[in-house]
Amino acid sequence: MTTAPQLSFDVQQSESARTPAERERVLADPGFGTHFTDHMISIDFTEGRGWHDARLTPYGPLTLDPATSVFHYAQELFEGLKAYRQAGGSIVTFRPYSNAARFNQSAARMAMPELPEDVFVESLELLVQKDREWVPTTEGHSLYLRPFMIATQPALGVNYPSRTYRFMVIASPAGAYFTGGVKPVSVWLSRDYTRAAPGGTGFAKCGGNYAAAFVAQRQAVENGCDQVVWLDAFEHRYVEEMGGMNLFFVYGDRLLTPALTGTLLPGITRDSVLTLAADLGLKAEEGKLSIEEWRAGCESGELTEVFACGTAAVITPVGSVKGTDGGWTVGDGTPGPLTMRLRESLMAVQYGTAPDPHDWVHKIC
Ligand SMILES: *Cc1c(COP(=O)(O)O)cnc(C)c1O
Repeated sequence: MTTAPQLSFDVQQSESARTPAERERVLADPGFGTHFTDHMISIDFTEGRGWHDARLTPYGPLTLDPATSVFHYAQELFEGLKAYRQAGGSIVTFRPYSNAARFNQSAARMAMPELPEDVFVESLELLVQKDREWVPTTEGHSLYLRPFMIATQPALGVNYPSRTYRFMVIASPAGAYFTGGVKPVSVWLSRDYTRAAPGGTGFAKCGGNYAAAFVAQRQAVENGCDQVVWLDAFEHRYVEEMGGMNLFFVYGDRLLTPALTGTLLPGITRDSVLTLAADLGLKAEEGKLSIEEWRAGCESGELTEVFACGTAAVITPVGSVKGTDGGWTVGDGTPGPLTMRLRESLMAVQYGTAPDPHDWVHKIC
């Protein structure tokens, strides 16, 4: 863990904060990622000087030179986690130091500066405390936190990474990802496009990975599917991820998830599911699975459930699979019992209705 140098936050109260009535209107139907709270966090970095000018200010637009490096070369990365209002009234986040550590792993790959882990977490705490009224009280709703970092040097040269950066955190109230209950998704196996190759940026949470993925996601939708499934870069045969989520395959009481080879994003939900599965007495393994094995497992009935997991949608069942040479269903196409059990177990820890033996929950206020 990297520790904080002395960085104190300047706090500037918003003069145009929404009224309680305006806020309640948003919180009645927050959707996902379209409404933002009244404040935001910014910290600047300058080579030679380090991190400076930490501040909490009113939420609002940025003014940047058109030559700013991030616009041209996409030197950018982000994180995603949630603040939950627990049954007893406390507001908590889930494993924020894991997000801080992953943020720094992404930063190293993108030739960007690391941020001390406790500054990362303090930023989240400060913003959530300030905008605590924005943490929804409705069951299953949360406040989505989006820390990110951009290269801010206004220069088009590419022989050296930017010498200046800005770290920011914004927050957005999030409704239940599924309106009207958990619905299984249909997935499209992408053979035309590759998300990540060895030596690339697959393990880093950088915007560029998403920029390159939209065309495949659009193709999935054009083929009548909800999400794209990424396969390995060499043979387009081994399963890696689904959109912005990790995948799990259930064989009776055994769980299999693709191993972290460097081309997959190391999901914190994925890691939590591996631990929870063991707690529930299930066997959980990291390995390799081809699309032929996926299909054969579903046809023989050995492969009983498939689900995807990530912070935004928690755990989502996969109901059917489609590719250029046909498709198949997983089980009977409805959410499987283990998928739902793991989903409920994880949410119970997050919302404080079950014990937290692994100290995952981090109290904010
Ligand atoms: C963020 C992300 C995930 C899920 O990570 P969590 O930490 O579980 O939210 C999975 N895959 C990709 C590509 C991601 O960007």
